[in-house]
Amino acid sequence: MSGFNYERDANGVVTVTMDMDGPVNSMSEAFLPALRDTVEKLEAESDLTGVVLASAKKTFFAGGDLNSLCQVTEENAETFFTEAQAIKAEFGRLEKLGKPTVAAINGAALGGGLELALACHYRIAWDNKAVQLGFPEVTLGLLPGGGGVVKAIYLMGLMASNEYLIEGKRVVPSKAKEAGLINETVDSLDDLIPRAKAWIAENQDNEAACTQPWDTKGYRIPGGNANHPAVAQMLPVASAMIAQKTRGLLPAPVKILDVAVSAMRVDFETAMRIESRGLTELALTPVAKNMINTFFFNLNQINGGASRPKDIEPQNTQKVGVLGAGMMGQGIAYVSAMAGIEVILKDISQEAAEKGKAYTEGLLKKRVERGRMTEEKAQQVLDMIKPTAENSDLNGCDLIIEAVFENMALKHDITKELEPCLAEGGVWGSNTSTLPITQLAEASANAENFIGIHFFSPVDKMPLVEIIMGENTSDLALAKAFDYTKQIRKTPIVVNDSLGFFTSRTFGTYLDEGVRLLTEGIHPIQIDNLGKAIGMPVGPLTVYDEVSLELSRKAWATWKDMGVLDNWGDGTVTRDVIDTMVGEHGRGGRHHGGGFYEYGEDGSKAIWPGLMDLYYNADTSVAEDDIKDRLLFRQVIEALKCLETNVLRTVADGNIGSIMGIGAPAWTGGLIQFVNTYGLERFSARCAELASQYGDRFDAPAIVGEKIAAGENFA
Ligand code: NAD
Repeated sequence: MSGFNYERDANGVVTVTMDMDGPVNSMSEAFLPALRDTVEKLEAESDLTGVVLASAKKTFFAGGDLNSLCQVTEENAETFFTEAQAIKAEFGRLEKLGKPTVAAINGAALGGGLELALACHYRIAWDNKAVQLGFPEVTLGLLPGGGGVVKAIYLMGLMASNEYLIEGKRVVPSKAKEAGLINETVDSLDDLIPRAKAWIAENQDNEAACTQPWDTKGYRIPGGNANHPAVAQMLPVASAMIAQKTRGLLPAPVKILDVAVSAMRVDFETAMRIESRGLTELALTPVAKNMINTFFFNLNQINGGASRPKDIEPQNTQKVGVLGAGMMGQGIAYVSAMAGIEVILKDISQEAAEKGKAYTEGLLKKRVERGRMTEEKAQQVLDMIKPTAENSDLNGCDLIIEAVFENMALKHDITKELEPCLAEGGVWGSNTSTLPITQLAEASANAENFIGIHFFSPVDKMPLVEIIMGENTSDLALAKAFDYTKQIRKTPIVVNDSLGFFTSRTFGTYLDEGVRLLTEGIHPIQIDNLGKAIGMPVGPLTVYDEVSLELSRKAWATWKDMGVLDNWGDGTVTRDVIDTMVGEHGRGGRHHGGGFYEYGEDGSKAIWPGLMDLYYNADTSVAEDDIKDRLLFRQVIEALKCLETNVLRTVADGNIGSIMGIGAPAWTGGLIQFVNTYGLERFSARCAELASQYGDRFDAPAIVGEKIAAGENFA
């Protein structure tokens, strides 16, 4: 029986220990035959007293086989559906064994792992934070199709299961027990199997204990079935909330709700079939394929260190200098201290540095108030940060990250002045959001140790760091920056140098297209709404107000001085608008007294009337689909250009960087993956249409044609 070890003890209890080939137990091809053989053997046992289902791996069971889920097509969909049903049939046989079965959950049981545990009558888990339980399928555009949706409804009811099924919440065992997903926890791993066997001994003759809720006559779903007034009242609200949250772009939450409601209306077996059908339909969607590709495969590739140079031993950062205690520096200090790294936080005055440290104090205070940290631990973290205005405090830093104003000359001066403070072999990182690293490194005596470490705002929340290689940056410096990023628990993408690198440059095209639409006479609200309609978190004009038109104007002035402006497409239309807005009308952005919008003290927001006079033209009409595609395609095209010119070193960096750094819509699976499921030829044709109508900035980059000719996609 491949992968499932079978052992019967003197009391007639069989322990099935899953130890499948590979690092984890999963629903690979080997799973169904192994499960079927096991169930058959159990059914044939005489004097069986009970079954313990355990795992020999660190995780209990990892879940569905995502590789095969990606391969579902219209041609093989029926086979996929049949297999889903076949797995459920084996779960059903296990449930009807007539003897108590216990899942002994020693590690994470997510998705299919939890579904397998739910096929046991009783679930005991080791109470440890590494033991995560939940249904993350929705985050991959899928639904838990191994009985997860239906059984969650039976166990928790519609309202309580909502956050698990539709939001993909994961919890530790104590919380799962409160929710009713598992029955018991043990404090020590060593107690897990003995406790499972003890429960079997206690319940050998207890028929109710060997019967699942869905097989129990007269069982009532917690909170009531679909006809219960409270549930009936909640359904339209839940649908509306999903529609609002997903903007109609993500099919999985809608389908999950559908299946959940069916589970309350039809018999169990029918509900299980509806669930399998639902999973099959979702697996066919491009959205699921995009999300699986990026949130699972790409993310694993990146977090697994694919972009880190091999053969360089781990580079642990112990003392980091952070220069500039402003918005970014204070956040960098916080995340570093949280990771146990000593931080020297330097600004031009002691007062400014203290203010930066106070930011960490504020965040820690909130953690303590919410019971997420002890006061003692919070104090330890705070003590890691030394605010200062003295250069000498930086002596011995193995990493210095500069986050002063975005100004080349200032950054050059600081590099010259403070680089000597670095410990032997120490690395200098710049948090610049746009300035080319190679040019910044000209002021360095060790350009090989100079690298870009680009954080996103707010640093404590944003999961991404963009690491930028200058022309002379060494692999050792990259390893240092990469390992530091992992130390502070962020996801690193690694890109090559260019003005705006990958993220700022690509995001800039979204803002630029928004402003171009404005100058064509489109209503500003329509522009912002359609930006959100494609799945961007915020409309382009609103974002521009937030990042500040004033800052953009300054940045352009800097790039002009540097002579690098031409590297970043043709931004003249936007530059003119910003000049007019800031230069002539003093509209610098939200934090400069207002920009495209006016902001009331009560949080209200309204279009600045002058904007309508300047640009709005009631006679202009551009099709909504064109506006949406323009806002999306500009970014996709820029990402492809980054790939073509080797600014992006891998497709995975592009996908993850676009989702986590600039908020590219989740349904696309990232700006490059989008092209794979849209279809390369179709993409090329749509680019040609847009280019003929709106300008050659929509020409598909040559790399698309090359891939089509080679019969490849952007894998
Ligand atoms: P900020 O204006 O909030 O802070 C800059 C800080 O640097 C100020 O506290 C200032 O006093 C300090 N400073 C100036 N000269 C100094 C010197 N000689 N020595 C020590 N400190 C000095 O700016 P910010 O938004 O934190 O941006 C800092 C850098 O991070 C810029 O390069 C910016 O492009 C980049 N960045 C900003 C964002 C963002 O969203 N704000 C995102 C990514 C990167």
